[in-house]
Amino acid sequence: MLDVQAIRKDFPILDHKIYDKPLIYLDNGATTQKPRQVVEKIANGYYNVNANIHRGVHFLSQAATEAHEEARETVRRFLNARSSNEIVFTRGTTESINLIASCFTDACMSAGDEVILSVMEHHSNIVPWQIQAARKGIALKVIPMDEKGVLNPDAYRELFSDKTRLVSVTHVSNVLGTVNPVKAMIETAHERGVPVLIDGAQAVPHTRVDVQDLDAEFYVFSGHKIYGPTGIGVLYGKEEWLDRLPPYQGGGEMIATVSFEKTAFNELPFKFEAGTPDYIGSTALAEALRYVDRIGMENIAAYEEELLRYATAGLRTIEGARVFGQADRKGAVLSFLVGEIHPYDMGMLLDRLGIAVRTGHHCAQPLMRALGIEGTVRASFSFYNTREEIDAFVAGVERVRKMFRV
Ligand code: PMP
Repeated sequence: MLDVQAIRKDFPILDHKIYDKPLIYLDNGATTQKPRQVVEKIANGYYNVNANIHRGVHFLSQAATEAHEEARETVRRFLNARSSNEIVFTRGTTESINLIASCFTDACMSAGDEVILSVMEHHSNIVPWQIQAARKGIALKVIPMDEKGVLNPDAYRELFSDKTRLVSVTHVSNVLGTVNPVKAMIETAHERGVPVLIDGAQAVPHTRVDVQDLDAEFYVFSGHKIYGPTGIGVLYGKEEWLDRLPPYQGGGEMIATVSFEKTAFNELPFKFEAGTPDYIGSTALAEALRYVDRIGMENIAAYEEELLRYATAGLRTIEGARVFGQADRKGAVLSFLVGEIHPYDMGMLLDRLGIAVRTGHHCAQPLMRALGIEGTVRASFSFYNTREEIDAFVAGVERVRKMFRV
């Protein structure tokens, strides 16, 4: 299906040895490795096309501006947004959500108004709303889930009231892997006239996202989780909604005219991009999106689904292993515990075998509380992982289990 060995050659870090063992990188949910094409784009940007963008009349500034705006167009195409005015570059998912939490609350909410979140949100889709709750007296309503890690659709519908102003939920859980039925959830919200923000951090790297088809008002993701650089991400927003919101930060780029008496703000998307943007990062992110497109999102999704199935089956052969997240539709995330072995012990011992997994609460402490645990071990997969790596991972977990004699 995929020529994984050829793909792996694009990722030099995958050839590294850790404690003299081949690196098996299963922490892709936290961040992905970067292909040469992306790293070379960054180097080429700084070596050959570096000048501050916009407003520059000189050659290099215009070339850099063009590259940045072409990157915006690549993101637009990738998400199938209507207009590149709907693509705002941010530092990542976290900043995108903070931007909406701050600006949406200012423009559209008053004390007593409500935002619906889900129990499986990452802290970055909880804390920004709590900050606004403290500032403006808005209330947070939380969609519960069942024991498989599936959100309860009836409970979701019942949370709406005439005070509901926004639904803000994750597309794919970074802990359980649950793929939430966001299209249906958006429809439910729209039937009640409520706009929706989708946290796509764990979805965009693994599945085709078409923002027009989903019809969410806002959709956000991070570059570094989709083979792009750190420090750059995207806020997609429907033009009519972004137009309604006030600016997030003030500074250069986001203004049309400034005097000490009155400032007029720039048009979209620049209104939300105060200061010098990461114009090298944007072009490298666009390169990452082209890389993913060349492999084909459908191929990636099918391959990763198969890896997840294989890994889940492998883990089930281990005595005392418990998998968290049993939804029918799951992203490439496998959270588990084995007996009473502490996740940190498992993670540290797997590390000695060259296997990188993540351990702990995964920035989702309310979810951990709902599951009645402190943390999990999480293996998360990419199209560059192989069945052989999964075999080594499962053998590693079994070895740790034997050490603890559980
Ligand atoms: N939401 C989800 C579902 C995530 O998995 C993450 C990253 N772990 C974030 C938000 C935050 O992304 P970032 O740290 O790139 O802003």
